[in-house]
Amino acid sequence: MTNTRDIGHWIDGKPFTGTASVTAPVTNPATGQITGQVRMADVADVRTAIDAATAAFPSWRDTSLAKRTAILFRFRELLNARKPELAAVITAEHGKVLSDALGEVTRGQEVVEFACGIPYLLEGRYTENASTGVDAYTVRAPLGPVAIISPFNFPAMVPMWFFPLAIAAGNTVVLKPSEKDPSASLWLAQLWAEAGLPPGVFNVVQGDKTAVDELLVNPAVKAVSFVGSTPVAQYVYSTATAAGKRVQALGGAKNHAVILPDADLDLAADAMVNAGFGSAGERCMAISVAVAVGDVADELVAKIAARTRRLRVGDGLAEADMGPLVTAAHRDNVRGYVESAEADGATLVVDGRDVAADDGGTDIDVSQGFWLGPTLVDHVTPDMSVYRDEIFGPVLSVVRVETYDQALELVNANPYGNGTAIFTNDGGAARRFQNEVEVGMVGINVPIPVPMAYYSFGGWKNSLFGDTHAHGSEGVRFFTRAKAITSRWLDPSHGGVNLGFPQNT
Ligand code: NAD
Repeated sequence: MTNTRDIGHWIDGKPFTGTASVTAPVTNPATGQITGQVRMADVADVRTAIDAATAAFPSWRDTSLAKRTAILFRFRELLNARKPELAAVITAEHGKVLSDALGEVTRGQEVVEFACGIPYLLEGRYTENASTGVDAYTVRAPLGPVAIISPFNFPAMVPMWFFPLAIAAGNTVVLKPSEKDPSASLWLAQLWAEAGLPPGVFNVVQGDKTAVDELLVNPAVKAVSFVGSTPVAQYVYSTATAAGKRVQALGGAKNHAVILPDADLDLAADAMVNAGFGSAGERCMAISVAVAVGDVADELVAKIAARTRRLRVGDGLAEADMGPLVTAAHRDNVRGYVESAEADGATLVVDGRDVAADDGGTDIDVSQGFWLGPTLVDHVTPDMSVYRDEIFGPVLSVVRVETYDQALELVNANPYGNGTAIFTNDGGAARRFQNEVEVGMVGINVPIPVPMAYYSFGGWKNSLFGDTHAHGSEGVRFFTRAKAITSRWLDPSHGGVNLGFPQNT
């Protein structure tokens, strides 16, 4: 581990190195250099974290809402003041440009702000005199220790979709972040400590399948929030539900944008470039398929191509529009899709394979970075692998169709249903699309329709297993369970011994 950082866990309010000796390299994707070694938890390490979360639960559950929200407000203030630090941590391990990393933190912060309203969100109902002298009421109680398992592409925002509400509602948390960019989670853990969160309420274990598997089956863990690829989401959902847990498992995506003939093509072209190539396409809400309807395709493709060629690809810490891919293996995988698209007869309008990465005038050596430039592929058909698979890279496919109905059929036939968008100036067509499309999040002239914190985030079909979306009112429901209480105080008479079923009188 010489010259690299030793990245460990965070358990019971402090750093924890654990007993496992296995580590995995963490790289700076812009330089290709190994910058850290992350400790991969074994089962004993994960149990230490679960034990800490279990021990902390009773007193955190009983901590007043006033005290809990005071800590949440402090966390929000610290995060708001120091988020450029966190953005730099993200860029150094993920590769996304700094402004994008800052955007991700800000969207996560919005969930913290929503969670500050937890006293209102937890309100129950009260019915006086439901029966003579009998009152009925409900409360929403926390679940206990909950697990959050997150992907590499949003190392701060995705955990923040869940933990602010989980903690605000009185649960304790074990977060298992991606092993590819583990440091953001530790930065957030340190911030919770500074905000005054008691030890054991928020814990982080680093690792891979070994750590995840223990979280999925350990009986002390009451719920699992997962975000990642569809095969792993399916596995997490089936394993953890079989172990009796409440699960929300968000999976992969293949997001289509439908561009109707009456659309503002400059708006649509800007949107395709932003949503296709932002964060190097490593967003679950990235647009990877532009569906050109009628005769707009030639003009649309020309406009997208002109914008794409102007993008600056380079180190995210310097001035660039788009950074590298997260690992060399992932870059090679995405490159393979460009090669297969070409072999399958699609037209490579902009080929990112020979991109020259920009060091932004710094002396940083980017020659070994994991680069692939933005790539625009036209005349793609649904049988090609570049269309079928989630690529998760800067590759935008254009599929040409004749009619709105054909476009809708294409979107609805896709096994994924995370996000979609329509570009049009026809309100009636947009209204039809929002009603007919089988996708969880819909944008109308908006390419990345990520819902606000007070709405809920989640897809349909193979993009979500479970029935509760993240954050918003669905998030509150996920992290709490109902308790219904029936009480009698003023009228102690109960009619004597009566084995009949109680009836309201
Ligand atoms: P991934 O599925 O490889 O990993 C996600 C998490 O699962 C990581 O913490 C990882 O360590 C763990 N993991 C990986 N393999 C596992 C296994 N076999 N058993 C148990 N755990 C395992 O995903 P990724 O590459 O980190 O992230 C990219 C994927 O996440 C894309 O498919 C993307 O669409 C998806 N994603 C979806 C959303 C959404 O909201 N639907 C949001 C962000 C990312």
